[in-house]
Amino acid sequence: MSFVRTILGDVAPASLGVVDAHDHLIRVGAGEVYLDPDHQLDSVEKAVAEARRFVAAARAWAPVGGTVVDMCPIDCGRDLDKLAQVARAVDGLRVIAATGFHRQQVYLETQSHWISRYPVERIAELVLADIRQGIDRHDYAGPIIERTAHRAGVIKIATSYGTITAFERKCAEAAAAAALESGCPINTHTTAGTCGLEQAQLLIGLGVPADQIAIGHIQRNADLYVLRQILETGVYLEIDGTARIKYQPDANRIMALRELGRLGHGDRLLLGTDSGKRSYQKAYGATTGVDYNPAVDGPRLLAEGFERAYVEQLLMTNAQRFFSFRREA
Ligand SMILES: [Zn+2]
Repeated sequence: MSFVRTILGDVAPASLGVVDAHDHLIRVGAGEVYLDPDHQLDSVEKAVAEARRFVAAARAWAPVGGTVVDMCPIDCGRDLDKLAQVARAVDGLRVIAATGFHRQQVYLETQSHWISRYPVERIAELVLADIRQGIDRHDYAGPIIERTAHRAGVIKIATSYGTITAFERKCAEAAAAAALESGCPINTHTTAGTCGLEQAQLLIGLGVPADQIAIGHIQRNADLYVLRQILETGVYLEIDGTARIKYQPDANRIMALRELGRLGHGDRLLLGTDSGKRSYQKAYGATTGVDYNPAVDGPRLLAEGFERAYVEQLLMTNAQRFFSFRREA
């Protein structure tokens, strides 16, 4: 019997409702916040407001509500006590938390980081413990490990702009080992849509089943030829970056969803918003936020002539299948 691992327990895939496959409700400090304080999402109250809007919009599609996949990985500001407070406060919300790694730059000075010091096998054990036992209350940022009751339900890996560094390759090796051991899916970060194909090839080469890999933020490379090449390896694509006009209009996203669906790849596309900054969330004063897919994007897809069944697949069923563990973890 397949299941999805949320931070408040394992659930049946269909109970996820609308799934936001890559987003951020809580992030407290660490590298990204140091690089840009706009990344600081430390308010439970604001995260609750954002999640409530998302669930209200999700209920127009699924009476059960929705699920946010919080893609903050190891030593990047995870705070499971806060995230669990959010999950408990919002009726109809489920939250999946991540383990795994961000791109090298986020770890600032990496030579002295434990990721550089420990062997891959020991790092894989830490990833696995997040999945099986509970995420460290201190986010593996210090020598004392104190496990919460909240287990990770997805593994992240990430790569830099146009390159996969030795540090990132090591992280991918540890992530792949933990994924194989636990049956947990891997959802990735590409930087500006680069290295998507290389990520797929790397993880598949390490033995991860293609259909347990989603290549993330890939809409940043709105090049259908490239997207098709990646899909032909058997992986999923995770498409987010909604209302991010400084990069590209949403019309590109609509175009990709339409064309990839027409080409028969519609069952391997996931939608996120990646509203991982204060300036991307309504609760902090922005005009868009975590509710974007069910509130704005779904209705727009219908208005632009998409079949309702396809839109439901994009908002719900593809992700319900993807985030299911492959076996007993
Ligand atoms: Zn993100």
